[in-house]
Amino acid sequence: MMMLTRKMIEIRSLLQTIGQSDSLTLPSIVVVGSQSSGKSSVLEAIVGHEFLPKGSNMVTRRPIELTLVNTAGSHAEYGEFPALGLGKITDFTQIQKTLTDLNLAVPEADCVSDDPIQLRIYSPNVPDLSLIDLPGYIQVEAFDQPTELKGKIQDLCEKYIQAPNVILAISAADVDLANSTALRASRRVDPRGERTIGVVTKMDLVDPVRGAQILTDKNYPLRLGYVGVVCKIPQETRSMFSRGSANISRAITKHEAAYFKSHPEAYSPESNTPVTVGTPALRKKLMHVLESTMSAALANTSEAIHHELAEASYEFKVQYNERPLSADSYLAESLDSFKHGFKRFTETFGREEVRNIVKRELDQKVLDLLAAKYWNRPIEYLKPIDPASEFVEEPLDSLPKADPENPLWHLKLDACSNSLVKTGIGRLATSVTAQALQNAVQGLLQDTTFASHPFAVQAISQACENILKDLSYETSDELEICVKPYKYRVNVSDAEWKVGRDNITESLKQELENCDKFAKSVEDSIGGRRRTRDVMAFIDRVRKGETVLEGNATGGAGGFSTELLNKGREAVFLRDRRDILRMRLMAVKSKQCSSPKNKYYCPEVFLDAVAEKLTSTADLFLDAELLSKFYYQFPRVLEKWGRELDESTVERFAREDPKIRRHLDVVKRKNLLEHVLKEMDSLRQLEAREKRSAPRG
Ligand code: GDP
Repeated sequence: MMMLTRKMIEIRSLLQTIGQSDSLTLPSIVVVGSQSSGKSSVLEAIVGHEFLPKGSNMVTRRPIELTLVNTAGSHAEYGEFPALGLGKITDFTQIQKTLTDLNLAVPEADCVSDDPIQLRIYSPNVPDLSLIDLPGYIQVEAFDQPTELKGKIQDLCEKYIQAPNVILAISAADVDLANSTALRASRRVDPRGERTIGVVTKMDLVDPVRGAQILTDKNYPLRLGYVGVVCKIPQETRSMFSRGSANISRAITKHEAAYFKSHPEAYSPESNTPVTVGTPALRKKLMHVLESTMSAALANTSEAIHHELAEASYEFKVQYNERPLSADSYLAESLDSFKHGFKRFTETFGREEVRNIVKRELDQKVLDLLAAKYWNRPIEYLKPIDPASEFVEEPLDSLPKADPENPLWHLKLDACSNSLVKTGIGRLATSVTAQALQNAVQGLLQDTTFASHPFAVQAISQACENILKDLSYETSDELEICVKPYKYRVNVSDAEWKVGRDNITESLKQELENCDKFAKSVEDSIGGRRRTRDVMAFIDRVRKGETVLEGNATGGAGGFSTELLNKGREAVFLRDRRDILRMRLMAVKSKQCSSPKNKYYCPEVFLDAVAEKLTSTADLFLDAELLSKFYYQFPRVLEKWGRELDESTVERFAREDPKIRRHLDVVKRKNLLEHVLKEMDSLRQLEAREKRSAPRG
């Protein structure tokens, strides 16, 4: 008997996790009653603990789906809120507080909510039961309560007291039953009194004879009958119960039993019209009624489950081609495909690619150095114009001519080469390579299913960054040591010179193209070629001292605004830079620059050759130290990351993608429904076994 109810309650809980559907559930016992009718006291007497929200104002605003699980053989008593994941709560005052908080979280304006709170209580002292506690009916709203409160509570209760649920209608003995809101509500939906249990509380407050009469009420006869109770913790023992720990059932039952025993004229089982009284009798009745009601509903529920399962299976087949999926498998697949992508990348990104990246960076450094030491006119060039200042600059043709005999030229080239070598090549080459790897990982992330999972993108990018950061420290220091010899002397062979010469020719051409592009955009911003030519001519004249800058009202000079003059300077600068670049290109291509012997004539070629040597050292080293180690470590760190994620995180990760979320939901629903059906089968077998072993007759 007990096992059957337990199993059915389990099935009911399982169905709850599947989702709200009226037909997809098993009946429960719904507890209704007016405020102060003693509803909480009855439930607490059954559970054995004070755990329901108390307060002068109405505090039950959401239904509480209470599942009682008998844990015979164990002493532990605790509660669980399955939806909150708070774990086992052994302190019942804590349960009371949580319930109060959950109820108070319903906005005042909404009055009540039909979203149930699920609470399970495990104890050796409770029967296996499933009860739904609803907000108590009120007669009139208190002055600080919303006016629609009464109606809303009624509507909520109305929804729950529908068939096939059993109604536990609580009324107080000291109030005329004809006025009991609970019984009136029940009568509306169960006019023949077939699924209502009448509970009459506070029997101690009425004369026993009158009490017995109430319990045999003929006005609204109930097939399941009335039960009279006294659910009050006797005042004298109340202090013995330190809040929330000791079980109060026994004290209540003892007090109650003593009361009914002291009035045998009305409550003796041997009396002419025996009545049912006492909390133990109520418990028994509840268990019995719940079991038979659930059993009766099984066939219908099973049909509804089959129907839902057919729908879920159809969706699974049509939408998802019956592809199995779980959050775990999805993560594993995503990781696998990412790792494959990464593997492919490692095959395409090696020493040669590192070389190109580093060389590109060093080429730019070489151009900057050349510009600063050889090609540039005074840096004043780029300063914004100030008409009040002296404005005489060296013209371009005054740049010093190359003079290989002059020791100053030797110093100049050595200084350049030195600063290139000392530029912090270790850090520079390592950081551009690490950045390239980081970018590649970002790109790969966007190409895989991870793209729609910000959580994973963030975690994987971070893992990648951390590994690269760690590897970079060592690599950059060690690389710095490797290039150290070049700080003292750099020998360039003929072959190396030739490569350098070809490469710098390309670089200069590229730089020239960039200057052209930039000059064009400056020209456009000035307002065309003609205007640009005019303002440049004015600046050239000023530079040669042929005219002076005389400020006008707008701060400009020569009929040009300050802004225009500044743009004009940029245009002049770019024109000069292009002239120099052309000149240097010619020089590099000239015969003089065909051999390393003439390196002082051709600083460009020499510096390029130095950059090339640095690059070769760097790419070899980075390939061995940074790439290989990163390619080894990263997939392993990913693997570990995936393995260490807890279940809820994996679930959250997978559900980030709405498509996957829908797929997972269908799979989960289908699995749960199949599981419930299996449970129902085993329930049927259990039922058959019990029937066979029940004594005949
Ligand atoms: P609820 O508002 O319906 O949940 O009612 P409560 O369970 O909070 O009870 C309201 C009041 O009635 C409380 O003060 C209880 O102590 C008291 N009460 C409950 N049951 C009994 C009973 O059987 N006898 C007596 N004398 N008082 C009771």
